[in-house]
Amino acid sequence: QAKQDGRMSFRHHSPEMNARVRARNLLMESLYQAMEQNQFELLYQPQVGVADNCIHGVEALLRWHHPDAGMVSPTVFIPLLEESGLIVKVSSWILKAACKQRMLWNQSVSENLTIAVNLSAKQFSDELLIHQVEQLLDETGLPAHCLELEVTESTIIQNIATSQNVLKRLRSIGVKMAMDDFGTGYSSLAYLKQLPLDVLKIDRLFVANLQQDERDRAIARAIIGLAHELGLTVIAEGVESKEQYELLANMGCELIQGFYFSKPISSLEIQNIGLKRIIPQHP
Ligand code: C2E
Ligand code: MG
Ligand code: MG
Ligand code: MG
Repeated sequence: QAKQDGRMSFRHHSPEMNARVRARNLLMESLYQAMEQNQFELLYQPQVGVADNCIHGVEALLRWHHPDAGMVSPTVFIPLLEESGLIVKVSSWILKAACKQRMLWNQSVSENLTIAVNLSAKQFSDELLIHQVEQLLDETGLPAHCLELEVTESTIIQNIATSQNVLKRLRSIGVKMAMDDFGTGYSSLAYLKQLPLDVLKIDRLFVANLQQDERDRAIARAIIGLAHELGLTVIAEGVESKEQYELLANMGCELIQGFYFSKPISSLEIQNIGLKRIIPQHP
């Protein structure tokens, strides 16, 4: 009586689950055309100095404008890009677009403004990355110290020895290296000791309840202290309120990234802010 067709294999899946799988497959299919159809865009989120409330850096964040689904979150499509291997091509585009954009702002922003770019795990494990970065700096004329590359703990622990080597080589070019989402992965202090880094980004997990939770305050304070002892600059992510900003500023955190100052915005909006003090969105 049991059906002998292929649908049998979906027997244990709920209808919702099948719908989810279908939606995912559809997204995956349309990702293949996204590059050619110019559906990707970079937005830039200010990294604001506590001392002067000016933009010291920006993080490039990828957006995908899907023709039917609208804006798709990078947390959804980056894993799909990785799975499909498309990440290699898209990542090269991101790096190049970000460096070019940084040069286009040249006259309107601080001379030392850094452009931070997220590296995918695949990209990081690729020997070609170093040559690609060298070539890009050469081609665009961007000073190496204006490029900051962000890696996560999970990227690094996939191969500590290789990571150490890649970080060292990138840093020897003069590029800055940042540890993203610090505290959410396998934040082994032994890695911090071994890895040549310039910047530590405190994950917003620890920032979110800073006012209410004294344990989060203790953790944030400890991370900032540790980072400074190791000679690293600290950026707090996900800062949404004045209270969070003030707590972090008092703990000695140098740079603030979050909705309190600005969401990720267009290149034009960055240019318009330029060297001006940035006015908080939710004072
Ligand atoms: P991330 O690198 O940790 O980037 C920070 C994320 O936090 C961004 O999400 C940003 O919009 C969000 N965010 C910033 N301030 C606040 C805040 O005050 N409150 C809250 N709730 N969120 C805030 P987004 O743009 O959705 O990106 C998510 C993740 O996707 C990124 O996390 C990064 O891991 C990845 N991603 C984004 N763009 C790229 C890219 O160009 N390449 C690669 N490989 N990954 C990317
Ligand atoms: Mg990042
Ligand atoms: Mg982060
Ligand atoms: Mg994150």
